[in-house]
Amino acid sequence: MKPGFRFKYYSSKVEVRRNSNSTRLNCVECGNRCPRYIYYKNDNSVTVTCSLNCLEKKLIPLKTF
Ligand SMILES: [Zn+2]
Repeated sequence: MKPGFRFKYYSSKVEVRRNSNSTRLNCVECGNRCPRYIYYKNDNSVTVTCSLNCLEKKLIPLKTF
C-alpha cells in the first residue's frame, strides 16, 4: 500500500502514512519502532501500528473465551 491510501478495517478508518527518520513512531501493539517506510494510523484515535498484522490485532474486538 502507498502513503495517503485510506481504507476501512473492522469499522475503523485507517490511513497509510509515510514514515520518516525524523518521525519514528512506536507501534501500539508490539511496542517496536515502526521499521518500514509506511505505518498505519487509525482515524478515530492516535493508534499507530507498524504493520497490518499489528493493526489487525489492535482493531479486532476482544474475543470472549
Ligand atoms: Zn507492531
